[in-house]
Amino acid sequence: MARCDQGYLCAVCGEEVEDLLESDLYLRYVLGEVDPELLHKLPERHIRCNPSLAQFIVDESFPTAASDGLFAKAALDPPFVAEEEERVSAGYRRLKALAVRGESILDYPLAKARDAAEESGGRGRE
Ligand SMILES: [Zn+2]
Repeated sequence: MARCDQGYLCAVCGEEVEDLLESDLYLRYVLGEVDPELLHKLPERHIRCNPSLAQFIVDESFPTAASDGLFAKAALDPPFVAEEEERVSAGYRRLKALAVRGESILDYPLAKARDAAEESGGRGRE
């Protein structure tokens, strides 16, 4: 998975997505939303350039993002918002840990997301 010298450009603002912690694609991958085989085919984006997802990251190292569109947090169900905040923030923390440790790409998804993918084969919960 060699990146070209220029790196990936954000499909929204056109600037370079410099590392893992800025990558919307990798955040969604960690959350189990992006197929690993599509990682290099889908357009890259800054997390901050995707406010409908970024607004759910609650982390002191992440600048608060606000979405004012259709999916603005303020307009959504509070229980759903709480669930998304927990899920997306956990994904972001995972991304931070990986940025430091440099683990294999196959270890990227959260265990929970991995289990969910395995369970979709028909097995019940627990
Ligand atoms: Zn951008």
